[in-house]
Amino acid sequence: MFIYRVRLFSLFGFKVYMDASWLLLALLIVWSLALGVFPSLVPGYRMSIYVWMGIAAAAGLLLSIVLHETAHALVARRLEMPIRDITLFIFGGVAEMEGEPTSARGELLMAAAGPVTSAALGLLLMMGSGVAMAVGGFAPAAAVLGYLGTLNWLLAIFNLIPAFPLDGGRMLRAMLWSWRKDFASATRIAAGSGQIFGLILILIGLLQFLRGAVLNGVWLFLIGLFLRGAASLANQEMLTRKILGGEPVSRFMTPNPISVPPDLSIQNLVDDYIYRHHHGSFPVTRDGRLVGCIGTADITMLDRSDWSRRTVAEQMRRCGEDEITTPDTDALQAMAKMSRTKPSRLFVTDGDRLVGVLSLRDLVEFLRVKLELERPRHVQEPGLMLVGPAAR
Ligand SMILES: [Zn+2]
Repeated sequence: MFIYRVRLFSLFGFKVYMDASWLLLALLIVWSLALGVFPSLVPGYRMSIYVWMGIAAAAGLLLSIVLHETAHALVARRLEMPIRDITLFIFGGVAEMEGEPTSARGELLMAAAGPVTSAALGLLLMMGSGVAMAVGGFAPAAAVLGYLGTLNWLLAIFNLIPAFPLDGGRMLRAMLWSWRKDFASATRIAAGSGQIFGLILILIGLLQFLRGAVLNGVWLFLIGLFLRGAASLANQEMLTRKILGGEPVSRFMTPNPISVPPDLSIQNLVDDYIYRHHHGSFPVTRDGRLVGCIGTADITMLDRSDWSRRTVAEQMRRCGEDEITTPDTDALQAMAKMSRTKPSRLFVTDGDRLVGVLSLRDLVEFLRVKLELERPRHVQEPGLMLVGPAAR
């Protein structure tokens, strides 16, 4: 999702990052404020004043978003839902949570904290703008504060729209979850509303674009796309979690995997294993015990003429933590490990014995089949429904 993140600072122990894409947002804001909004709000100043006002407003927006996200993160930490860090990117900010919320109440409080903070901040900024106005002579400052105040209110209102992954969508999910006691169906409904809202934004964006408001149109279109993507991802993640969570690796692994004896020559390893089975790395076993791992990376430094003289035992290495797992590890954790460090399979060991291999492809295939079988009945093929009356 991010292009290139730079660490800005830490706030309450949370690391705040800025993605390169945020700079684009900042430029757009400075540009449109300095050329359009501020000259019409407070006319009669030099261009350089308007540019500085634009820069101040962009910096203020950055801080506003950071405070909004920090409010989420503080409540989450209080409720023991760990937050990794905060990132500003082109569509605002995200506080990335590790795993799913632990309770409906927790998610409701965490989600509400952001809009509440933005609304309170908006009120403060508007009051500040009023004071600057009343004292007199601070018209540019009053305009910037007033603008930021309005922006914070818009931030609060937009985020309260009940469309997942917006805060309002999270609140909707939390309420459905506590009412119907079913996290999965609550996620499905909230994510569904996120998809619909995303589509509405896309359509409004297209309309704006056609009516000549090019920038607004493109902007809404992109936000709509982003929301739709995030909503469907949330739904998929939830389904994966539901299917794999609590299931041990032993349920999905292939037992008796192909392993390499230590005294095999590298030439035979290449000819009979790597070229035949198309795996990048193999477990090395002696009497069923895992003694090491060997892969293409371990033999590239060898001269080809040495392949027949060298043995696997000489070139193998200790298997890395990210290459192995155990039969009773949660399958979801194993899948997370594979998607994090990118090996396509994990060797399953019980003590020092190699008992199986778990491949990402098998897990994904299992998920696909399971989802297909568990599809709600009303979307079944029409052909299947015709079988009913005929069979009777
Ligand atoms: Zn929020």
